[in-house]
Amino acid sequence: MAAPAVRSVGAAEARAAASAWLERDLSPGTVTFEAAHEAVVLPLVRAGKVDYATVVPVELSTTAPRGRWRVYVDAATGEPVARKQTLLFASGKVAYDAPLREPGGERQDWPANRAALTVGGMNVTSTEAGDVTWNGNNATTVTTRASGTQVTVDNDAGNPATGNLNLQPNQTAVWGAPNDEQVDAQISTFVHSNVVIEYVRQIDPDLGWLGEQLDAIVNINDSCNAYYDGNLNFFRQSNQCNNTGRVADIVYHEYGHGVHDHAIIQGVGNFDPALSEGVSDYLAATIVDDPAMGIGFFLNDPGPLRHIDPNGSEAVWPDDIDGDTHITGLIIAGALWDLRKALVEDQGPGGVATPITSTTKRSAARSTSRACTSRRSRPTTTTATSPTARPTSA
Ligand SMILES: [Zn+2]
Repeated sequence: MAAPAVRSVGAAEARAAASAWLERDLSPGTVTFEAAHEAVVLPLVRAGKVDYATVVPVELSTTAPRGRWRVYVDAATGEPVARKQTLLFASGKVAYDAPLREPGGERQDWPANRAALTVGGMNVTSTEAGDVTWNGNNATTVTTRASGTQVTVDNDAGNPATGNLNLQPNQTAVWGAPNDEQVDAQISTFVHSNVVIEYVRQIDPDLGWLGEQLDAIVNINDSCNAYYDGNLNFFRQSNQCNNTGRVADIVYHEYGHGVHDHAIIQGVGNFDPALSEGVSDYLAATIVDDPAMGIGFFLNDPGPLRHIDPNGSEAVWPDDIDGDTHITGLIIAGALWDLRKALVEDQGPGGVATPITSTTKRSAARSTSRACTSRRSRPTTTTATSPTARPTSA
């Protein structure tokens, strides 16, 4: 609407008044003048009553908070009377689809925790909850990766997987490839590495290792194993075993070796392999609330890799010391599980830390769990194929 020709406030005065107003209200760092416009008549609603003022619109941009503002300065008095943010932001969520525990089982959408994404052409890192923002108020494109500031996943079999999603404002876009073993392994390892890091952070928030970027290598050309050597390493699927990067318990277990490794006080403690296996099995079991550790490790076999609380038997020191450190580890793992049961009995479920990322209630414990003794003869718990000084055989 064209205004009366009278314009008692000049552009310079309007600009100074508008800029001072933003600085006073927002402390925005830098205010940059963009433009001043011809005066217009602006309806002003105050206490249910509409007034009309002749105003000079002034365009300004700010850096912190980032914004572009249209400030209306009263043409008669020189006072700023209204403003609006003209730069629009949209927000949405990004989630990654991964198995709850194993590739053939229940799946869940997990927040893309601190993921390195490209959103509308800009490189951004999502929040812990998977939130992202972008300019404008329309749908945008998102390129997803199985890497971020907390966890980076390397694909040993080729280029790192990426996904391309369309994200609507206030909606959630989900990246998943449940039928692609090698892509799913990358996504699942990213998801479950973040889960175990958040879990351990509840127990020991000051553990420095939690603040370092974790490196996980997946789709290694080998089978039926995984190991920790400072990084986490996971093998491909074979006739006998699933891709271990797709098995949540195994990701938790391998990370457990890292927690143990970094919890040792140098010069006081020493790295004991059997103790490390036991506490790593316990960490995995307590996260999933199931002593049947490593469900999904075996292909076409619903039983666990090891059971840390088998019916009718207790592993006891020194009677059950074994040449296989995984089996010796069942002594401490079983003791910790017994302690956990006592804590839950005494204090309720709050007696132990609970996973914070999972939003779906797990189904009841599987009835297919087997005694660990059935696993003693498995060739898959050998460590001969592990190429490092500290192999951990899952
Ligand atoms: Zn291990």
